[in-house]
Amino acid sequence: MQVTEVNPDYTNAALGVLSKTFGFQTFRAPQDQIIAHVLKRQDCFVNMPTGGGKSLCFQIPALVLDGTSVVISPLIALMDDQVMNLRQMGVRCASLHSGHSLPEIRKIESELFKGIIKILYVSPEKFLSPRFRETLEALNISLFAIDEAHCVSQWGHDFRPEYMRLPEVMNQFPSVPRMALTATADPPTAREIPLRLALRQPQIFRTSMDRPNLQYSILEKDQGQAQLLEFIESKHSQHSGIVYRLSRKDVEASAEFLQSKGIPAIAYHAGMEPSLRRKRQEQFLQEEHIVMVATIAFGMGIDKPNVRFVAHLDLPKSLEGYVQEIGRAGRDGLPADVWMAWGMRDFEMQRSFIERSEAPEQRKEMERRKLRQLIDFCEAGECRRVTLLSQFGESYTGPCGNCDQCKNPVQKRDATREAQMVLSASKRTGERFGAVHLVDILIGNLSDKVKQFHHDELPTFGVGKEQSPFSWRWIIKRMLAADLLRTDAQGHWTLQSTEKGQNVLFGRDTFFLPIQDPSIERLNKKDKNSGRRKKNRSSPVLSELESQWSENDRKLAQALRLRRKEEAASAGVPPYVIFGDKTLYALVEEKPSTDIELLAISGIGANKLERFGDWILQEIRSYS
Ligand code: ADP
Ligand code: ZN
Repeated sequence: MQVTEVNPDYTNAALGVLSKTFGFQTFRAPQDQIIAHVLKRQDCFVNMPTGGGKSLCFQIPALVLDGTSVVISPLIALMDDQVMNLRQMGVRCASLHSGHSLPEIRKIESELFKGIIKILYVSPEKFLSPRFRETLEALNISLFAIDEAHCVSQWGHDFRPEYMRLPEVMNQFPSVPRMALTATADPPTAREIPLRLALRQPQIFRTSMDRPNLQYSILEKDQGQAQLLEFIESKHSQHSGIVYRLSRKDVEASAEFLQSKGIPAIAYHAGMEPSLRRKRQEQFLQEEHIVMVATIAFGMGIDKPNVRFVAHLDLPKSLEGYVQEIGRAGRDGLPADVWMAWGMRDFEMQRSFIERSEAPEQRKEMERRKLRQLIDFCEAGECRRVTLLSQFGESYTGPCGNCDQCKNPVQKRDATREAQMVLSASKRTGERFGAVHLVDILIGNLSDKVKQFHHDELPTFGVGKEQSPFSWRWIIKRMLAADLLRTDAQGHWTLQSTEKGQNVLFGRDTFFLPIQDPSIERLNKKDKNSGRRKKNRSSPVLSELESQWSENDRKLAQALRLRRKEEAASAGVPPYVIFGDKTLYALVEEKPSTDIELLAISGIGANKLERFGDWILQEIRSYS
């Protein structure tokens, strides 16, 4: 391979574009290395977390190099969002996808032929189409950037078969450099991507997947919606966030529930009319205080930077999926919460999905492994970051100090005896019953089923009566999670002991439980002062940042927000496209008074200075 040095003019040009167009003063490592590499026209694979700044790594070379850069992106929303953002900065760009009419396509093509467009976003389907291949022949292509490159992995959660065929077209243009980018790739997927996309001796740029601004918490689901409400009211009463639910029905129910409690919630799932979906998505992007309750059909390509929380009210499908979903929180780098409540039923549902599916055994085995990986993460008694990052092949030395486990470490106690009671009740009843019946036996409840099977005659009948049914169900959940018990292979709810379970039953192994299950404590508290919950406490995230501000500063922030909103409405874009909260905070804290000072604020480039500079400076003056 021929190695060309980066033209020093290019390096300067890249810095120029960074500050003039994007309004940023310095590159974040390793953006500069990646850009230099692309400017040498060599292939690379970029694996950096969400919010890490991947887009700039292809956008800047696209603006520095002659010709048009082609960005392949799996989702219309993602493309449109980037095009909208770039246009606000004065960048000439366009997208081509199934959402466009023929006249629109013709117009874009003619601009392409004139060489006006610097960045073209295109869906994989369009990219492979004969018409587009012909268009490409007539262009001077500077770069192929493949965004969300994990979509090429068959085993991943977002597999897109068209991605596998991208090399067919790229191979027609051997001199054009290729760049693949993703935020979510576990080690096997990361190995697969460069091969499948036929990258040629690619340099691999990988940074830590850690996102320090996220605060993790995972709790026991008991009355899920009430727990969610408490979380939102206590920490995010003024913020935007996303709530993920597994089923469409639950999406609707939770959205209604939140609305009934005065929270501006909207619902989104794949069962809705496309026009309604678009409207809801638009609404979510536009509004500053809104909660989206959705299935995982929502979110890919949602680049709203000020999502202050992502909540899971059911177990996600896999750890990769989870990482992808929480990736939507805190893209602007400001503090954000990722919160999950899950229960035994969630786990059972997922398992039965797997067992009942028609998929080949090999696929099922992989899905079982993924579910186990997820449960191990949820159940690990140590720092969430340590466990999460280790699953992605990173050794992070915790504790991080910014997760529930670090903030409130859980003490454990030996619960081998209780586990043995459950295992024995299950064994003595032929491993043919589910949790409800086993709990009835343990607490000595003479249910009809107990009477029918004469299970009141068992030696285990009533041995656990000093514990509540809730507590036993919780223990069983923990045993399932720890792989002492499993449901039968047909996905029925009957519980059977595993090899690990046998070891515990016969005293060859031990079983530990957290000393106090946090949700039990919470429930007791709620019983005592039900209805006296404090509402609308101001958010710690905002108040932490804003508490140091004077009254005047707060008014300035409010005024800037208002103007931003008006400006956004007249430009037909969401407020954050005018400028983000990070920029807003910097404006309030730095109070620039000249154009030069304003340009030094992160997020204000030449274009935005020209368009908004006057009123920003004016507002700042009037509150100084
Ligand atoms: P990714 O595509 O990796 O998820 P983005 O490219 O959307 O991340 O960048 C995340 C945020 O960081 C955006 O708001 C972006 O404008 C900002 N950003 C990127 N690079 C820089 C930089 N060098 N300096 C300051 N902010 C940056
Ligand atoms: Zn931690």
